[in-house]
Amino acid sequence: MKSNRKFLRQCACCKQYKDKTELIRITKDYKTNEIKINTDNSVMGRSLYICKNEECITNLLKKKKIEHVLKGKTPVNIKEKLDTVLTN
Ligand SMILES: [Zn+2]
Repeated sequence: MKSNRKFLRQCACCKQYKDKTELIRITKDYKTNEIKINTDNSVMGRSLYICKNEECITNLLKKKKIEHVLKGKTPVNIKEKLDTVLTN
């Protein structure tokens, strides 16, 4: 069986490996230190991935994963933005 291992990314919350199309990428801009949802891969910098589901998004915020993994402040409106990604 062929595997596309290199395209798999790990969710920061549930630790499952998934294809990156099934994950949301959140990146801290290496120039501005701004944390953004990186849907079009336009932002360069340290990144984390989370599943496109309510549970992982809730845990991401509850367990302050953005602070721990990206060493930055969780943007205040990130929940709304993640909800927008989910519904798209
Ligand atoms: Zn997950």
